[in-house]
Amino acid sequence: MQYVQGLSCTNCGKSYSPEPDRYLCSECGDRGLLEVEYNYDLIRRNWGRKKLADNPEPSHWRYLPLLPVNPETIRPLLRVGGTPLYQNRVLGTELGLTEVWIKDDGLNPTGSLKDRASSLAVVKAREAGREIVACSSTGNAASSLAGNAAANGLQAVIFVPKRAPSGKVAQLMIFGALVISVQGSYSEAYDLSASSIKRWNWYNRNAAINPYLMEGKKTAVLELAEQLDWKLPDWIVLTVGDGCTIAGAGKALRDLQELGFIENKPRLLGVQAAGCAPITRAWEQSEPLQVCAEESLADSIAVGNPRNWRKAIRAIKETDGVLVNVPDEEILEMMRLLGRKSGIFGEPAGVAGLAGIRRAVREGLIGKSQKVAVIITGNGLKDIDSARKAAGEPYKLPPDLARMEEVVSKEGLKEQ
Ligand SMILES: *Cc1c(COP(=O)(O)O)cnc(C)c1O
Ligand SMILES: [Zn+2]
Repeated sequence: MQYVQGLSCTNCGKSYSPEPDRYLCSECGDRGLLEVEYNYDLIRRNWGRKKLADNPEPSHWRYLPLLPVNPETIRPLLRVGGTPLYQNRVLGTELGLTEVWIKDDGLNPTGSLKDRASSLAVVKAREAGREIVACSSTGNAASSLAGNAAANGLQAVIFVPKRAPSGKVAQLMIFGALVISVQGSYSEAYDLSASSIKRWNWYNRNAAINPYLMEGKKTAVLELAEQLDWKLPDWIVLTVGDGCTIAGAGKALRDLQELGFIENKPRLLGVQAAGCAPITRAWEQSEPLQVCAEESLADSIAVGNPRNWRKAIRAIKETDGVLVNVPDEEILEMMRLLGRKSGIFGEPAGVAGLAGIRRAVREGLIGKSQKVAVIITGNGLKDIDSARKAAGEPYKLPPDLARMEEVVSKEGLKEQ
C-alpha cells in the first residue's frame, strides 16, 4: 500500500481512502466503480526496471510496488503468474501473420488468469479482517478464489450458475469451498452472491465491484512487457466477458508509461463471443450497455450483464483498440489449431482471442507484418466437453493388429 494514493470514482471523480472493503462510490452506487491511484513519482524514486531485474521472485508479487496490498500481509503460498511466453511462427502464419506471441496463463495454479485477481482478493480479505470470502462466477473466478483461499487459510463461499462446466465445479469442491449451484443464469447467481455477501458481511471478490481485482489482472501485461524486454508488440489480444481483464490490461499500459518502462503503446484487441457480445455492441454504437442472452460455449466470457463494461471500453479507447466478435465454431477450431501447432490446451474463452486475431487480420485491422501477442486465459482441461466437441473422439479398437492396419492406412500414416 506504500504507493497507493487512494481510490477514485470512475464516474464522478470523488476520492476515497483505500480501505480493503471499500467497493463502490457512495454517491454513484453501481455506476461508481472505483479505481486504484498510485503515486508514480514516489514509485519512480524507489523502484525501476533494474531493481525489478534483480528481484528473484518468480510470481506476480514481483510487481508489488504496483499492487494495492500491504507488503506485510500474509500472501497465499501459491505461485501465481510467471507464466511462459512463446513465439510461434507456424501458428502466426495460420492466422495471417508472420508470427504470434502466446502467453499461456492457463498455467496458473488453478488454471486461469483469474488467479492473478483472486490472490489479491484473499490478501485484501485478510487486511479487512475477514475469514470468509465469497464471489459468483462462471467458473474460473470461483476456482481461483477457492484455491487461493485454501492457500491462505480462508473459507470461500462460491455461487456458480447451473451451466458451469463440471471440471471447474470439481476444482471448487477439491479446494474445500462451500459451493452453491444457482439454478439460473449467471446474472441470477451474481445477485444471490451480492445479497448473501451483504447479509453476512463476507469479503466480496466480485470483480464487478471490487477495485483491487483489476490490479491483479494487470500483472499479465506487466509480465508480458518484462518478458519482451519492455518492447511490447503492436497489439495485445484478450478475451472479454465482464471486462475487468481488458481494463486491467489498459491499467498496466498506463502504469508502464507513467513509470517510463515502455515507449511504444500497443493497441488492445478485445474479443467477445458472437453469442454474447454486449460490450462490443455498446462500443460500436456508442450506447449504454444492453443486457443480453448468454449463448456461447465459451462460458467464461458469456457474461450478459457485464459490470466492468465502462472500464473495458475506456481501455479500448485509450489504446486506440478494437473489439471483435467470434462465433463458437471458430472458437472450437482455434482450440484444435492451438493444440496442434503449439501443444497448448486452452479452454474456449482462453483461445477465442486467436479467432479474433484471424478476423482482425482479414478485415485489415491488424497488418500482416504487425507484432501481436495473445494471452491464453484459461486451461482446456477445465472444460472437457468443449474439448471433445472441438477434437472428436478416439478410435475404439479391440486389441487386434489387423484393425490397427485399417486405421493407419485410413489416416495415411507412413512406415518409418
Ligand atoms: C474471466 C475470463 C475471461 C474474461 O475476463 P473478464 O474480466 O470477465 O472480461 C477470459 N478468459 C477466461 C478463461 C476467463 O476465465
Ligand atoms: Zn462517484
